[in-house]
This record gives sequence, C-alpha cells and structure tokens, in this order.
Amino acid sequence: MNNEYNDLRDAVAKLCANFPGEYWRELDRTMSYPTEFVRELTEAGWLSVLIPEEFGGAGLPLSAAAAVLEEMQAQGCNGGACHAQMYTMGTLLRHGSDAQKQEYLPKIASGELRLQAFGVTEPTSGTDTGALKTTAVLEGDEYVINGQKIWTSRAEHSDLMLLLARTTPLTSEMKKTHGLSVILVDMRDAVGNGITIKPIRTMMNHATTEVFFDNLRVPVKNLIGDEGKGFRYILSGMNAERILIAAECIGDAKWFNNKSVAYAKDRSVFGRAIGQNQGIQFPIAKAYANMRAAELMVQEAIRLYEAGENPGAEANMAKMLAADASFEAANVCIQTHGGFGFAAEYDVERKFRESRLFQVAPISTNLILSYLAEHVLGLPRSY
Ligand SMILES: Cc1cc2nc3c(=O)[nH]c(=O)nc-3n(C[C@H](O)[C@H](O)[C@H](O)COP(=O)(O)OP(=O)(O)OC[C@H]3O[C@@H](n4cnc5c(N)ncnc54)[C@H](O)[C@@H]3O)c2cc1C
Repeated sequence: MNNEYNDLRDAVAKLCANFPGEYWRELDRTMSYPTEFVRELTEAGWLSVLIPEEFGGAGLPLSAAAAVLEEMQAQGCNGGACHAQMYTMGTLLRHGSDAQKQEYLPKIASGELRLQAFGVTEPTSGTDTGALKTTAVLEGDEYVINGQKIWTSRAEHSDLMLLLARTTPLTSEMKKTHGLSVILVDMRDAVGNGITIKPIRTMMNHATTEVFFDNLRVPVKNLIGDEGKGFRYILSGMNAERILIAAECIGDAKWFNNKSVAYAKDRSVFGRAIGQNQGIQFPIAKAYANMRAAELMVQEAIRLYEAGENPGAEANMAKMLAADASFEAANVCIQTHGGFGFAAEYDVERKFRESRLFQVAPISTNLILSYLAEHVLGLPRSY
C-alpha cells in the first residue's frame, strides 16, 4: 500500500489539510457531524471511487478505496463519518436490479443522495444476526416494516438506509439466516412518518443512533435481489467492509506512530530528548513493526479480493491485526506524550477513543477468532 496511488494519496492529503485537529476537536466537543468534510470528499469524488464509470463514479478497484480511507486517517481525519457508503453501495451494485442501479448509483456518485446508513444490528440479537426481529410484511405492492435497529450510524445524515429485515417468519425447520431480505429504505419522507431516530451518545463522536420502525411502508420495488436471500447479500459485502476498515486502522496506526516519533524527538526531560530512552523508543518501534505486519495482511487480502477470490480469512485477519496495531500505537502514543496525551489539544486522546471502536465494530475480535478457529483451523463450532 505504501507506494501505490501516490497521486490519489497526495490529493486526499491536500483535502484533509483543510480539516485540521481544531476542526475535529470542536466537532468532538459538540458531538456534531463533519458535514463540510463529507461534502468536500463527495464533491471531489473520493466516496464514489468504487462506483463504475457508467454510473458516474471513478470505477476504481478496492485498493483505491482502501488508499483513500487509509490516507484520511493517516492525516488525522475520521472516515467513520462516511466510510459506510463505500461498502453498502456494493450490495446495491452486486445484487440490485438495473433499474435500481440506474435510479440510485448516479445520484449517490454525485452526492445528491447519501447512502450512509446500514441497519443490521438489533438490541436483542446483537452479533447473532439471524435472530433479528424487525419484520417486513408484504401488503399489496408495499412492505410494512416494524421493529428496531441499534447502532445505525449516520442515520440522521443519510437519505437512504440499507435495511436487513425478516420477510419470512422463522420456523423451527428453517435455518435462521434464511428468510431475511435487504430493502433500500428512502428515509427522506419516512422520518416522523414510520421511522423515529434517537441518537446514542458514545465515547467518541460517531453519529450513531437507534432507529424505530412503526408500520413504515416501503414500495416492493426497493427490495434488493431476491426475497429471503438478504443474509447472503450482506455476507458477500463483508470482505470489502473488513478490508476497508483495516485500511483505516492502518492509517490511524501511522498517524499515532508519526505523532509518537515527533513528540519523542521534541520533548526534552532530564536534559535530553525522551526519544533517546529505549523505554520510549522500543514501544514505538514495536508498534511500527506490528503496523507493517498488519499492512502486509491488508495488502494480501486486497490482492486476493481483486483477483476475484473469496478472501474471508485474510479480510478477517487483516481487520483484526490492523485494529490491534492501531490500538497498540494509540496506547503507546498516550504513554509517549505523558500527561499531554490526555489533553484534548494534542488530538491523541480523541484518536485513542476513536481507534478503540474497531475492537468491537463492525465485527468484534472474538467473532473473528471463532471464524478462524472453525473455518480455517477446522475446530468445532463454538456457538
Ligand atoms: C459506534 C458503533 C457504530 C456501529 N455502527 C453500526 C451500523 O452502522 N450498522 C449496524 O448494523 N451495526 C453497527 N454497529 C454494531 C456493531 O456491529 C456491533 O456492536 C457488533 O457487531 C457487536 O454486537 P453487539 O454490540 O450486539 O455485541 P454482542 O453480540 O452482544 O456481544 C457482546 C460481546 O460478547 C462477545 N460474543 C458474543 N457472542 C460470542 C461468542 N459466540 N463467542 C465469543 N464471544 C462472543 C462479542 O464478541 C462481544 O465482545 C455499531 C456499533 C458501534 C459501537
């Protein structure tokens, strides 16, 4: 990833320079959405790099999207405000009808429509997606949707939501991942009219929410692909999601490591730079080595993905190793900064809080480990 897309990285870095630490600090203080940042990214076309040219995007491969997200994080910005558009859009691209793609993709590419909300997780089912309870019942040419989602990030800042709901009641003979469907919900007229959104205050500024559906009516033409195959469609987008989040974590790790090195050279205690002490050098060097190792796994996952393979194991390992590398680098960065690591004006504590998320979302470390144990190592299924 290091030497690829240099022009693209330079352009992203230039855009990010308009959004320095003070910008993010103020948003963090007021828990506000980075509207201007997302607008500039959209207008520059960076959020539509994966949309094919015929629909108004750049038609670039996953590696380009990974480079965009990594660079954003490495510059100290936060792609969490908009990264979902990159991978939710893939579900529409791969499984949507021609009419759906014609209707939505050009508008998503131009920024006229935002597809930032992804409604999968529910309060009672959690990681056990097949146990979700939100229902979509067909009545004439409409689905009537009832239920609740949780952690639906950016719902207040999105026009569309990709929703996973149960369209066939679960019976004891059925696999619980069957009978789920993906529906594209246009939220523009639905809020207050079938949809209620409640923000959740979290340890970092992430614009995440609870969404309640109360007899929301959605035209059946908004069903993506075949009814009942929604879980499979969501799964098919997971590799891209994991890889892109891993790239963001690599960007974060680079930001932390650069920040640690700069401070260790600059800060003088006992008459010499703290970076002269091996007790300060070694943790930074180790965090750097772990970041580079994780970066190689991200590159390998991208290589396989772009060769048309199904790199489930590599995408999961990349996400786990990169999330670990960024959190290690974050922790070392706080330690290197001593007390100043806790001062908001250094941005380290904010990025530290932000990087903690990736141990849990979009998939938690335990679930990655159990995937590897079962599907790669052949150990018995644990749940
Ligand atoms: C800020 C934020 C933003 C998010 N954005 C979105 C979004 O936009 N859309 C969306 O759909 N979801 C979103 N999520 C949800 C996220 O994907 C889930 O939080 C995550 O998948 C974990 O689910 P859970 O919180 O229900 O944890 P639970 O499933 O309740 O699990 C709790 C803990 O138990 C562990 N655990 C559970 N089962 C097992 C097992 N069998 N073996 C070992 N350990 C186990 C988990 O690893 C976890 O550590 C977001 C979450 C957060 C915090």
